[in-house]
Amino acid sequence: MMQNQEYLPRLIAWEVTRSCVLSCIHCRAAATRGKYKGELTTAECFSFLEDVATFAKPIIILTGGEPMMRDDIFEIAKKGTDLGLRMVMAPCGPLMNIEKANLMKEVGIQRISLSIDGATSETHDKFRQQEGAFAGVMKAIECANTVGLEFQINTTITKINIHEVPEILKLAVALGAKAYHPFLLVPTGRGKDLADQEISPEDYEKTLLWIYNQRNNIPIQFKPTCAPHYYRIYRQQEKAAGRTVTVKSHGMDAMTKGCMGGTGFAFISNTGKVQICGFLEEECGDIKKEPFSLIWKTSKIFNEMRNIDGYRGKCGICEYRTVCGGCRARAYAVTGDYLAPEPYCTYTPRKTDKGK
Ligand code: SF4
Ligand code: SF4
Repeated sequence: MMQNQEYLPRLIAWEVTRSCVLSCIHCRAAATRGKYKGELTTAECFSFLEDVATFAKPIIILTGGEPMMRDDIFEIAKKGTDLGLRMVMAPCGPLMNIEKANLMKEVGIQRISLSIDGATSETHDKFRQQEGAFAGVMKAIECANTVGLEFQINTTITKINIHEVPEILKLAVALGAKAYHPFLLVPTGRGKDLADQEISPEDYEKTLLWIYNQRNNIPIQFKPTCAPHYYRIYRQQEKAAGRTVTVKSHGMDAMTKGCMGGTGFAFISNTGKVQICGFLEEECGDIKKEPFSLIWKTSKIFNEMRNIDGYRGKCGICEYRTVCGGCRARAYAVTGDYLAPEPYCTYTPRKTDKGK
């Protein structure tokens, strides 16, 4: 299926540093304050951006750690903007101030994303393992609003905070966010220790259905991230209501395929290792050794991600596999096989649809 289709990156999450000011319990990077060896130099960062710009114009998410722990972060952002890439940033909050927010605007940062994992300072700070973390995010939002910088709110949903999601959504709207993207925990990185905090497949299904039912009542963009079977649920519900599915296919709020890992999305680690996403810790290449453009086209894992019929078990035969495909990182975390069936999907496919 789609073997001859040309795949281009639309979104690249780039962990520009692993150094951080926080040590959140669910952190993919398991980041700490310290300096990390082998992080990309400014010249290497520039070469990477130049290479990307030769074949695609993706959104580049500057993430970490805390991206602003790099002294050259604004030079890197400007370089990307000058190359015609859409630069966005995922700061943690505490390092934001008016000066930094203005600098972000000057270098062309188009949106920042901030995480709120609890509706109150008590629950958020506990999740973030840092007193004052909630206040830090509020300060960052105030700075963004003051200078007119777009922001979105993200939440990592676990058993600990699932009941707070409706309140966080209200808060995101009240604060003036452009979008709210709840993310379903993937038990990797420091989040491995939270495997028992992952919500059950049944609650997962209920949560995604709740999100679907809210979507038209919310004045901002509201969709789950890395919950591929939301796209199955979305289509099931629209079909049941007799509606034709129309989706936004480009930009920061695109709603095309559930998991874009390897087909429209890639992750670059702080030392230049390429992965299909930050949660599937299998190296697909190293931008210190070969250009990203080559890795994107030739990596075995990237190509396996594109061959959806090659997914194992129910995900390889499911009639929703082209819009969903399951979370490959979750399959990997639970079974050790990234092509295995998505462990958090309750759906049983109609097998007759294979190959249609
Ligand atoms: S593999 Fe999972 S965590 Fe990674 S991009 Fe796909 S849905 Fe998201
Ligand atoms: S079986 Fe796999 S492809 Fe089908 S809806 Fe579930 S996760 Fe998606």
